[in-house]
Amino acid sequence: MDKIDILSLSREELTAELTAMGEKAFRAKQIYDWLHVKKVSDFSQMTNISAQLRNMLEEKFCLKSLIIKKRLVSGIDNTVKYLYGLPDGEAVETVLMEYKHGNSLCISTQVGCRMGCRFCASTIAGFVRHLLPSEMLLQIYETERDSGRHVDSIVLMGIGEPLDNFDNVMKFLSLVNSEGEGMSLRHISLSTCGLVDRINELAEMKTGLTLSISLHAATDEKRSSIMPINKKYNLEQLMKACRDYFAKTGRRISFEYSLIEGVNDTEESANELIRLLGGMLCHVNLIPINEIRERDFKKSRYVERFRKRLTDAGINATVRRTLGADINAACGQLRRDDGASEEAVD
Ligand code: SAH
Repeated sequence: MDKIDILSLSREELTAELTAMGEKAFRAKQIYDWLHVKKVSDFSQMTNISAQLRNMLEEKFCLKSLIIKKRLVSGIDNTVKYLYGLPDGEAVETVLMEYKHGNSLCISTQVGCRMGCRFCASTIAGFVRHLLPSEMLLQIYETERDSGRHVDSIVLMGIGEPLDNFDNVMKFLSLVNSEGEGMSLRHISLSTCGLVDRINELAEMKTGLTLSISLHAATDEKRSSIMPINKKYNLEQLMKACRDYFAKTGRRISFEYSLIEGVNDTEESANELIRLLGGMLCHVNLIPINEIRERDFKKSRYVERFRKRLTDAGINATVRRTLGADINAACGQLRRDDGASEEAVD
């Protein structure tokens, strides 16, 4: 029988497992504290638990951990980019960034991605598997341990499409939200390419999450040419889901718009975006596209001009600050380069 992934269990689930083993409920609390507050990486470190119970835990549960395969530290602004090795030998990326309001961690939700966005390195080699709640949580725990810095906010913007791994991501959010990290979901942003049915589900759950929509184009023709998901859920359906999300949760939507030379950075594109978003309470995050080796998309030279056009039309738009410019690699590129030139970490 497969061992149970203990870090993915809620406190209630852990208590039920231990009670079924004939243990008292307070043992579950002690073990939960070791896992999520003291964040030990081995059952043997649980010193107030008897050796006999620790052996029973070893037999029934597995306690996963990540290994640091690469760590790139920016000499400019304290950004740290990790390539974490997973227990089955796969790898994902996690990025720690420093802002005025604290440290923000960008975490991955899948190994690879099946969404097929044309400009994204994470999807080129396709989808491998979903991450478990424990594997998302460990990206926080391991980063805090390694860096000695506290993670104040999280963005689900690394490798993968979070809404394509819905149940595990929801479980992860409830774990982050409970003791241990105890983080309010208001400090968490979830970024999606636009899985409309799941956005509607999320709206009903009223989690308080900030929703970021990867928009990148404001007509169906342009968006479908760079984001295949638009053929399944078009802009009309997506915008309706965004308006409903705001109506139900009161949370303003953030739109990501990566500017690609000659594709979505023209005045015509700006006008299309103004027409699409005009009158909506939202925020637009403009991102100069990260060029990736496998595609010939070029970074736009007109980012500032584009921003001004939006703000002149009354749309709240900012250009995302580039962090870690000296270790800058597009999302998913580090994983693709695994084994290549970057300095390896023991
Ligand atoms: N799948 C989710 C989250 C991961 S991608 C989503 O699509 O939102 C995180 C963000 O980076 C998305 O807005 C995505 O469109 C954007 N992105 C991907 N590749 C990029 C690149 N090469 N340059 C700039 N932004 C990119």
